[in-house]
Amino acid sequence: MKVLKFGGTSVGSPERMHRVAELATQSAEPKIVVLSAVSGTTNTLVQIGKALQMQQIAEADRLVTDLRKQYDKFYQKLLVGEEVQKEGEVIVAAHFEVLSNITQEPFNADVEKEILAQGELLSTKLFTTYLKSQGIPAVLLPALEFMRIDANQEPDEVFIQERLSALMDQHPDTQLFVSQGYICLNSQNRIDNLQRGGSDYTASLIGAAVRAEEIQIWTDIDGMHNNDPRIVKRTFRIDRLSFDEAAELAYFGAKILHPFTVRPAQRANIPVRLLNTMQPDAPGTLISDHQEDRPITAIAAKDGITAIKIKSSRMLLAYGFLRKVFEVFEKYKTSIDLITTSEVGISLTIDDQQYLTSILQELKTYGEVEVDSNHTIVCVVGNMPFQKVGVLKKIVDAIDDIPIRMLSYGGSRFNISLLVDNRYKVETLNRLNEHIFTFPDQ
Ligand code: ASP
Ligand code: MG
Repeated sequence: MKVLKFGGTSVGSPERMHRVAELATQSAEPKIVVLSAVSGTTNTLVQIGKALQMQQIAEADRLVTDLRKQYDKFYQKLLVGEEVQKEGEVIVAAHFEVLSNITQEPFNADVEKEILAQGELLSTKLFTTYLKSQGIPAVLLPALEFMRIDANQEPDEVFIQERLSALMDQHPDTQLFVSQGYICLNSQNRIDNLQRGGSDYTASLIGAAVRAEEIQIWTDIDGMHNNDPRIVKRTFRIDRLSFDEAAELAYFGAKILHPFTVRPAQRANIPVRLLNTMQPDAPGTLISDHQEDRPITAIAAKDGITAIKIKSSRMLLAYGFLRKVFEVFEKYKTSIDLITTSEVGISLTIDDQQYLTSILQELKTYGEVEVDSNHTIVCVVGNMPFQKVGVLKKIVDAIDDIPIRMLSYGGSRFNISLLVDNRYKVETLNRLNEHIFTFPDQ
């Protein structure tokens, strides 16, 4: 069994969706195809939610009507023949009825999540209908019947595994299943989601649950690159990454993968392949438990970082200070990315500012607090055990006149992270690119 996930652009037009059908059926082995919403749809659904939250009902209605027009065109081009077009019309009408009714209801977080779920429901139902119209007996596995997160927003892996296998057991002869990425139930059995970009995570959770032989993430780029191609001119594709390297890159900003995707696959030791729908025969990037002996593999950058420094007058030999500081972050469910400590203080970074004011207020009871916002974490990833000398020097030399706010080294043998003011991001990435990589064509 293989799990194939196709992103929003891969299903972004009826022609592209036809192409996905070809890719999903070109070999006979059993598959589960996970789809995102058609590109742009989730963004529009977010806007509808925002309009409703601000009680701009007319604006929400306008957005729903415009989106409906797009879907009417979409299914008419996707599906050929009167009968199957009727089926398409019924699907589109049903989901737009949900949306139109919702705009009349009082808005809350549950309503918002129901709105956000419509994109993946539409794409998968239309896709399955298309497959059937082509004589391919595909079965839709509704994510809302097996994908669930618990009260801590963590996937409920036992539930997922049990429910999914029970659903699949009902179709013992089926070779091709389709399911929705991103959407799930929460601990109250209400509609929820795995956060933006979460379809990759869905694919990995499904892959782990069914013990798939491989998880394929199909996008519109040729794989993971050594640096951000949108910012740096000369980048190259990486053939192989270890799970650890890929997890660090995804967490620290590589946009190609949702940050949590790697872990379920890693735990179940299932290789993940990043592939390109535009060049389906290209090798892509293979992520597995194989670790290349290469000190520096790639760089990723994560923006919107806030650095907080807490200076304790009592740190000198004081135990319990770090615990108190960490408890504040735990209380506000805000995770810390980088930490550095000294005898008198601690600097740390967060990327979620939702509770920043309350966090700062509490931290002030333990010492002097300084905040720097709008920073960027630059994360250099590779296989760099500390015995391998010279890696740090290489990095620091490359950016020797750029002010580094924090440097985190030794937390993992796969990562060295730097914190710089966002205005130095482009320069930092470019300079590192020129100085620390050996380009394959050289
Ligand atoms: N449709 C969702 C989003 O746009 C999930 C995904 O594409 O992975 O974020
Ligand atoms: Mg994505």
